[in-house]
Amino acid sequence: MLAEVHREHGVRLVTGSRAVEVLRERGRTVGVRLATGRVVPADAVLAGVGARPNTEWLAGSGVPVGDGVDCDVCLYAGDDVWAAGDVASWPDAVSGERLRVEHRINATEQGQAVARNILAGRASATAFRTVPYFWSDQYGLRVQVYGRTRGADAVHVVDGSTRQRRFTAVYVRDGHVVGALGIGMFRPLRALRELVAAHAPWPAPHAEAAVLDRRG
Ligand SMILES: Cc1cc2nc3c(=O)[nH]c(=O)nc-3n(C[C@H](O)[C@H](O)[C@H](O)COP(=O)(O)OP(=O)(O)OC[C@H]3O[C@@H](n4cnc5c(N)ncnc54)[C@H](O)[C@@H]3O)c2cc1C
Repeated sequence: MLAEVHREHGVRLVTGSRAVEVLRERGRTVGVRLATGRVVPADAVLAGVGARPNTEWLAGSGVPVGDGVDCDVCLYAGDDVWAAGDVASWPDAVSGERLRVEHRINATEQGQAVARNILAGRASATAFRTVPYFWSDQYGLRVQVYGRTRGADAVHVVDGSTRQRRFTAVYVRDGHVVGALGIGMFRPLRALRELVAAHAPWPAPHAEAAVLDRRG
């Protein structure tokens, strides 16, 4: 649906094709060559290449490093080392899935959680619990996501419809809600956040009824 919205606004999407070279002539950018050999003409090129945690400097220090600093559920990495923010990888307290989140709210929440745990002491440290959240405005549509959508094996529209471009949907993996997405529907989405937080079974008549109750 979002691809359709972008196309309507004149965006040409080329997916599944790696960019291999930025082409320049007389000091000016003229295009991008794709792995297929196709050349896409361009006056300017903006590259979004993702990010990776800066952990090379920890090599040999004893701090466990995998995809970031490997922590336990309390964000503790051993030997009085704690991690928070983009660099921290930790097992989700509910699903057990190892997470690493690159969003500002997560960095803030984890910084606070680590500070609390350091003050409480290792023996009283508590698991970091969160429902990752981000939003994005695209051509007047507000897209909001709680939890994880990647790796889901089913998506169910709960309210509204994709045709109206106003809906909420749950993302389900192995029969449990792992994420929720809303477009132009904040309040119904807030209700679904609780299902994500609880890793609630889906379909679950009582869970759906609870959502409907809260929506009033
Ligand atoms: C272009 C861009 C746009 C973004 N937009 C959004 C957005 O709209 N919304 C959102 O929620 N998030 C956004 N993010 C992500 C957000 O910026 C990060 O999630 C957040 O900054 C993470 O905070 P942090 O403290 O974990 O890491 P950082 O902010 O990366 O801070 C880590 C600091 O550690 C320093 N450092 C690294 N190695 C060492 C070392 N060896 N010794 C000392 N210091 C070191 C670095 O220089 C850096 O200052 C964006 C990120 C980028 C790059």
